[in-house]
Amino acid sequence: MSAYLVLARKYRSETFDEVIGQEPISQTLVNAIKTNRVAHAYLFTGTRGVGKTTMARILAKALNCLAFDDATPEPCGKCDACESIARGEDMDVVEIDGASNRGIDEIRELRANAIFRPARCRYKIYYIDEVHMLTKEAFNALLKTLEEPPEHVKFIFATTECEKVPATILSRCQRFDFRNIPTAKIAEHLATICKAEKVSADDDALYRIARAGAGSMRDSLSLLDQLLAGGGKVCDEEVIRVLGTPPDEQTIKIGQAIADGNSAAALGQLATLLDSGVTITSVVTALGDTFRNMMLAGACGGDSELIELPEMQRKAVSELAARFSTPTLVQNVGIIQRIAQTLRGSSVGRALVEATLVRLAEADKFVDPSSLIERLEQLSAGGMTGGLKKKSLANPASPQVPTATPQNLPPSQSATSQTRSSAPPTADRSPSPGMESSENSAAPETAPAITAPVAQQHRPLSTEQRLAVQQDPAVQTVMTLFDGALVDVVKDPLIPEADDTDESPEPTNGDE
Ligand SMILES: [Zn+2]
Repeated sequence: MSAYLVLARKYRSETFDEVIGQEPISQTLVNAIKTNRVAHAYLFTGTRGVGKTTMARILAKALNCLAFDDATPEPCGKCDACESIARGEDMDVVEIDGASNRGIDEIRELRANAIFRPARCRYKIYYIDEVHMLTKEAFNALLKTLEEPPEHVKFIFATTECEKVPATILSRCQRFDFRNIPTAKIAEHLATICKAEKVSADDDALYRIARAGAGSMRDSLSLLDQLLAGGGKVCDEEVIRVLGTPPDEQTIKIGQAIADGNSAAALGQLATLLDSGVTITSVVTALGDTFRNMMLAGACGGDSELIELPEMQRKAVSELAARFSTPTLVQNVGIIQRIAQTLRGSSVGRALVEATLVRLAEADKFVDPSSLIERLEQLSAGGMTGGLKKKSLANPASPQVPTATPQNLPPSQSATSQTRSSAPPTADRSPSPGMESSENSAAPETAPAITAPVAQQHRPLSTEQRLAVQQDPAVQTVMTLFDGALVDVVKDPLIPEADDTDESPEPTNGDE
């Protein structure tokens, strides 16, 4: 009995026609071969597992197939050269891993060998994977060969990080950008493989595997390998178990509870998921996907290709999306995204997620972005406090005073108190430690600033209170909407002191 060959190798595409999801590249290469315009050097870029090495080997076979007198778009796949190239072992097709052979010595050796003619094939082909890992000196040495390559030499470079490849190299290569493979195409291929392997597989389960592969055929095939190793059939429950991700139905149920404004139900669903062994991170990721899909359904319609879901869930997601306004969905995606970031390293992950669910379910009790905008416009027009910087809000009717320093939006409202007013931005105030300051150092903005009369006095807040305001999703939303940054957080003197007791409904992570 032969050793088990992983699916990715067993079912590696052998011809240009077979490469999945990269048809334009296959077509261009075929045309180049037909018209005898094959370049000296190619650069294949794209994420892992999208077919770069496969394409490189097919190109090498096409150039070197011994069954033909010249390069052919349809290599035989049976001659010695084709077979050894397919295995990655041909003497004239040298595969180099740029990650482990990144020094100048390796490239010098390559240059020294490149001048000799190929042993039996038409071309000597150097395939350097992860070429961006080469050292600067190695790149320089490579450049010399690239500038004047011997007639019989071809280079194929592959990289997942094209931006790290020097421009001098890039400019001497024909570049092909490999796309992430669409989920549906991966699922289709997985189905073909299961048929060939005589394994029964549910379509939904295959789709789920394909989606987990996130555009990478190799990752998807590895997952399928893992499932087949288990010996069972490929069904949804099994895939969910292996992936450790919650089923879409469950996250959709959470979405429904949120739409119903039923936080108890949302929390109940969360508890059920966690009890079933799904990690809190996976729940948040899945929930983020669900709301993203809902947002896409809201913005592009339920039929949009961007929504990568099987038919049943697609319908459920579209219906659910109709129960939210698109701005709310956008806001919710943002909130979930931030909670996902906060989760890393947090010891109170579950509490944070629970608080988020309650917040989403009871959104009407919190500030929504449109009411905040309205409120801010009132503030700027009404001449209370606060300076706004963003052209879209520049109200020509309001008094405009050019400001001396960059004035960023200082929304100070906590989520529970809409009446609390923002801070007077004064010229000498520097950003507080820990506050978002990416914008503060910027040069004065060209956008007109609206400055209202500055309130005479304000009361300082404690660091905790500042943090609470800073981390409030509503405040962060405003910051994103207006491209602003928090300069300072103070308390409006007009608000009674008693208000201080209620800062924020969100548990905050004081460590940040
Ligand atoms: Zn051949």
